[in-house]
Formats: sequence, C-alpha cells, structure tokens
Amino acid sequence: MSEPIPLFPVHRIDPEVFAEEQHRLFADRRLHIGRSDVVHAVVWVEWINSLTLPAPACHQGWSGLGSGGEITPARRAVTCRKCSRFLGEPDDPAQTTLFPLP
Ligand SMILES: [Zn+2]
Repeated sequence: MSEPIPLFPVHRIDPEVFAEEQHRLFADRRLHIGRSDVVHAVVWVEWINSLTLPAPACHQGWSGLGSGGEITPARRAVTCRKCSRFLGEPDDPAQTTLFPLP
C-alpha cells in the first residue's frame, strides 16, 4: 500500500530567519510576482513580531509569504505604472493604456 500524498506540506520556518533572508534577497532590488515580467517597486510591510516582508509598492495582489517563490527579486528598472507613480517617476510614454481614459 502506498503512502498518502500530503496535500498541504508542513513548512516550519523561523520568522526572524525568514524575514532576514527576505531583506537580504530584496534589499536594493525590485520584484516580480510569479512568472510575470512586470517589475514592481518594493515596499516593506509589517508581518509579525515587528518583522517586515517585501511586497509590491502598488499593492498588486498575490498570495503567500514569498517562501515558495511567489515573488522573486529583480535588478531591472520598475515597469509597473502604478509603482512608477508611487516612486514619483513620470509615466513611460511607450506603455499604452488598455483603453482611453477621459
Ligand atoms: Zn507595481
């Protein structure tokens, strides 16, 4: 008889070590969400015990803590329009809107 496949593998992480690793990975970097090519600016959001984790500045939704590779560090310049505005950068004229705005 074969063993059952665990549907929700248990990952035990030390929060302080994990947060420290995230800071090392994302310091002075931008980030990608999943397999997207869009590069977002990084902000640090409060997690637990006054620890912080990286997140997209534009508040683009994603799930997880980043421990499963949901977000990855990037060295490229920010390409997300919302993040660019957050950083106070002018809109990239090469990036067009999906539909005309009034
Ligand atoms: Zn963004």
